[in-house]
Amino acid sequence: LVMPLGQAVGAWTQLQTGLGALARIQEVLVLEPERDDVPEVPGAGTGAPAAPRVPPPGTPLLELDDVSFAYPDGTRVLDRVSLTVPAGSRVALVGPSGAGKSTVLALVEGFYPLTGGAIRWAGTDVRELPRAALRANLGYVEQEAPVLAGTVRENLLLAAPHTTDDELWAVLADVGLTGVVQRSPRGLDVPVGDEGVLLSGGERQRLAIARSLLARPALLLLDEPTASLDARNENLLRETLAAAAADRALLVVAHRLSTVLDSDQIVVLDAGRVVARGTHAELLETSPLYRELASAQLLV
Ligand code: ADP
Ligand code: MG
Repeated sequence: LVMPLGQAVGAWTQLQTGLGALARIQEVLVLEPERDDVPEVPGAGTGAPAAPRVPPPGTPLLELDDVSFAYPDGTRVLDRVSLTVPAGSRVALVGPSGAGKSTVLALVEGFYPLTGGAIRWAGTDVRELPRAALRANLGYVEQEAPVLAGTVRENLLLAAPHTTDDELWAVLADVGLTGVVQRSPRGLDVPVGDEGVLLSGGERQRLAIARSLLARPALLLLDEPTASLDARNENLLRETLAAAAADRALLVVAHRLSTVLDSDQIVVLDAGRVVARGTHAELLETSPLYRELASAQLLV
């Protein structure tokens, strides 16, 4: 694994700059296979404290408590945002472009310090947790999926080195990538990129989602996972995410509401503030903004 990992990290380093890339590389490096319940700090074994246990379904896993945030350049983006993701549940964050949705995920991932408020993991302020321990419990797939290096197999095995081929094909099917990979006679060993199978932005993102699913994090953070999908693949991915949520939690950012209609809770963000929350049916009754977003997307 050393070579492909080195290549992948090298490619990412070339292609990306800034905190996000560093954090992503760190995330890959700390991932460990076969983490089924609560991971120890991967690779630690040296007395570093592990993240707290994942609490029972229905109790708070992730909490944002009055989180305010301004980017280092002074742009104020979030104003006292509170939301809770219970273990085993699916929470969606929706709202107009620029509302601050991606920023919420970046803060959970720990890319920037908060301006105010707190983020808690199973009741503990994340500032009291080792970053690596928290990251090991989080799967984060960004809106702009990184350009990848290596083969399809290498990309997936980064998350879970002992996965069998059958399991790899199964997860590719779950995210609707079987066809793309089967088109090459090299199958799972086809390189992604110029010399192998060229993946579109959406396909790269789905490969990243597949990798996150294999890593089995306690909480999966997905930013616009269906933005570039056709209806058929969107349905497929929605079913996959519903199944994945059975034994973990999901916080999904979506501009496209059809992706998140069946979430346990939908939080509506507008200009950095939570303006409504509830189920799809509840929000159609209570939130003019949600109704507007829904009707613009022909959902009502
Ligand atoms: P959304 O995901 O809801 O479209 P974002 O969280 O990406 O919204 O952005 C919210 C606001 O923060 C926007 O006004 C955007 O221009 C600003 N913003 C996003 N990233 C940065 C950054 N790195 N530095 C400064 N401002 C940013
Ligand atoms: Mg965004």
